Amino acid sequence: MREYTGFYIDGNWLDAQGASNIEVINPSTGEVAGIISDGTEEQVNNAVEAAKRAFVSFSQTSVNERLELLKAITNEYKQREAEIAAAISEEMGAPDWLASQYQAAMGLAHLNTTIEALSKFPFEEQKGTTRILREPIGVCGFITPWNWPINQVVVKVLPALATGCTMVLKPAAQTPFSAWLLTEIFDKAGVPAGVFNLVNGHGGKVGSALSRHPDIDMISFTGSTGAGISVAVDAAPTVKRVHQELGGKSANIILDDADIAQAVDNGVKAIMMNTGQTCTAPTRMLIHESKYEAAVEQARKTAENITVGAPSSNSYMGPLSSKKQFDTVQKYIQIGIDEGAEIIAGGLGSPEGLEKGFFAKPTIFANVTNSMRVAREEIFGPVLVMIPYSNEEEAIAIANDSPFGLAGYVQSSSIERARKVASKIRAGQIYLNYAPLDFAAPFGGYKQSGNGREWGEQALYEFVEIKSVVGFG
Ligand code: NAP
Repeated sequence: MREYTGFYIDGNWLDAQGASNIEVINPSTGEVAGIISDGTEEQVNNAVEAAKRAFVSFSQTSVNERLELLKAITNEYKQREAEIAAAISEEMGAPDWLASQYQAAMGLAHLNTTIEALSKFPFEEQKGTTRILREPIGVCGFITPWNWPINQVVVKVLPALATGCTMVLKPAAQTPFSAWLLTEIFDKAGVPAGVFNLVNGHGGKVGSALSRHPDIDMISFTGSTGAGISVAVDAAPTVKRVHQELGGKSANIILDDADIAQAVDNGVKAIMMNTGQTCTAPTRMLIHESKYEAAVEQARKTAENITVGAPSSNSYMGPLSSKKQFDTVQKYIQIGIDEGAEIIAGGLGSPEGLEKGFFAKPTIFANVTNSMRVAREEIFGPVLVMIPYSNEEEAIAIANDSPFGLAGYVQSSSIERARKVASKIRAGQIYLNYAPLDFAAPFGGYKQSGNGREWGEQALYEFVEIKSVVGFG
């Protein structure tokens, strides 16, 4: 039982100050795994004040000083990486292999790319007789979700530290353990008082207070499109910069010249990873009608071999991260059935023997049209829809017929053909032939998947204001 009550403000671990507790549930068991404090507007105000004070000196630090700070954080992170992985398994159910090799490891990967980007970042540039200065934007508010809990936090905090910003973080109340450990790392690594502040609590209260705060210069949000809109509305009267990383319903175009068995096998595994709770997951598989039958057969086979279990069983798939998410997934499976889609694997309910906790079945729908709700709405669970197309133009049209534009996937034996199709998809990242993640590649969405970019060098541009000193000489 973890008791992470209180707040981290101005370099001090403060007690709960009368705040009520929020229970954190282990999704593998459905039991309480710990408690945190539910912050109030007063704690948000104190944290913002501390960040504002700290900005005066931290914004003036040199690139070298900030590089040294990021290296100190890297050293501390390495020592606690296994602990972070265990916390993520406990708070959101990631299988041990996924928690250690991906979830926790992504913290280090982003530290490395941020250090690299900072060492080369053009804070000053001369254009004619004008000097262009890139200055830290100021005090930032961060609101993050539960699906990749450490990744979602570090992709905001690290570029903010790199550019000389100060900040207040509100992580998802569902997954606060890893964020707490990260705060301990920052404290131990010597992040100056007030530069990083943690206020736990619910989004409607703490998140909204951050979004509305007049002394916050930028709010960066990752989560659902609905909550992202609330953040933007709350932020509008104070004209702060708003960065949104929202949902997705990404198409995976398997062209007719691809190795169908391999492409479908990889595609099913890609969506089921992290129990389908990845915003860029390839949730709509588009297959040429001449290969559809073979693709369905392969998808069924792959799904049947996907193991589901508690994190320690090292199964491929863990539970969904909450009862709420389990109920949402069940609701959508029922919607798919009612819409006339055909279940070829999985379906309603939990896998046998896994009725405790929030385990769902890897589920695949065939005979899906892109107008069905299961093809249009983000389910955020282990549910794949398979849609046939008759030619390349139609595949591209289906891929783009979505309110979202976060990611896209193209499989082809011809890289030239894959590149051509990629150029026509309106989304922020396109992965050709299941290319591995590139931590230096800008990450973010078109359309209702958000605005702005995270990861690598591009992330640093998000955290600066531009000042033109005209007549500089
Ligand atoms: P969510 O409500 O968008 O939660 C994300 C973060 O926003 C959490 O920290 C949440 O606080 C906070 N929040 C919620 N309402 C807010 C508001 N009005 N103002 C400020 N902050 C607010 O996501 P969810 O309810 O956990 O999941 C709902 C759906 O969002 C999922 O089914 C999925 O479709 C989508 N989702 C997308 C991503 C992604 O990476 N794109 C990640 C997670 C979820 P609390 O701690 O109180 O929840």
